[in-house]
Amino acid sequence: MIVNRYHRQTLLEGIGQEGQDRLQAASVFIAGVGALGCAVADHLVRAGVGHIRLVDRDVVEPTNLQRQSLFAEDDIGLPKAIAAKQRLFAINKEVRVEAVVDDLRPAVATTMIEDCDAIADGLDNFETRFLLNDLSVNFGLPYAYAGAVGYEGTAAFLKPSPKHRKHLATREISEAESGPCLRCLVPESPSDDLTPTCDSAGVLAPVIAVVSGLQAAALIQYLAQSNDPLPHLLTRFDARTMRMHQINIGNARREDCATCGHGKFEALHGAAGNKATTICGRDLIQLLPASPQPTNLEALANRLAPHGDFELQPFLLRGSLTEELDQTGNPVGLTVFSDGRVFIHGTVDDRRARAIKNRWLGG
Ligand SMILES: [Zn+2]
Repeated sequence: MIVNRYHRQTLLEGIGQEGQDRLQAASVFIAGVGALGCAVADHLVRAGVGHIRLVDRDVVEPTNLQRQSLFAEDDIGLPKAIAAKQRLFAINKEVRVEAVVDDLRPAVATTMIEDCDAIADGLDNFETRFLLNDLSVNFGLPYAYAGAVGYEGTAAFLKPSPKHRKHLATREISEAESGPCLRCLVPESPSDDLTPTCDSAGVLAPVIAVVSGLQAAALIQYLAQSNDPLPHLLTRFDARTMRMHQINIGNARREDCATCGHGKFEALHGAAGNKATTICGRDLIQLLPASPQPTNLEALANRLAPHGDFELQPFLLRGSLTEELDQTGNPVGLTVFSDGRVFIHGTVDDRRARAIKNRWLGG
């Protein structure tokens, strides 16, 4: 243990040693270890939050290094959650960091959130954000929402109403403290055609630093303090004009909100498993097993060896199939995780992806 490592933080009015002890006892769920997830995790681990659970389904790619601050060149090809855990352990060995290499989806979401005190959003899509929002309302946990694309970023610290809380929260948010949930602010998932993504529009890395800083500032204060001083605000930052625009969302709760108004958890109780999804910024399809299936990657590597070029790496098998070509005539890539998830690279056609999986890996 490094003596006094939190000295500059315990000097702060409202934190002190008592607040530091609260942080040490706290647990935060970070969904997605992309640019936002890396930055928030870095802040929370340095601040001494005692337990962090990270979940991410992807591996580190060269284009991530511009903004995903926990990764270095040597991490390319490693699952992001694992690479992040290694870096966070090097930063602060007092913090227990749990890395989950999986897709955050309804079938596994509830177990991932157990024992956590707060949720941090490091996601790139609204479909999964609605799942996080369902967890936030269902478990009565605050949700540090953020998003960044292009030169703009948005953040809000959402404290859901306890009206439809189904699980006992570790720290209860009262009706008086509560505000809108994400669905009160965004009732339906914005259409993919209308939503720029970091893939289509790019993203300026310092914008992520601004909005992830807002997320972490809210989380640290909420977890360190016994009373909750944080206002209900949605903040937008535009790096081109260097302006911050804030909206008071204190009265933005909607009685007719499906989630916090009517207690319908559509994302959480939606169709689970065996789903094909495209991943933002990647020319690939992810295929999930109906239930987690431990895969013997070594045996699979031997079986696929005559049909392509494969490399067995820690946690995954990665390579390309010489007998399957993509539209540009290059071999189709394949990544198989030890939990049975599969990435088919070089296609965004889910029927083709399923056919390739069935042919080479079995149905
Ligand atoms: Zn709501």
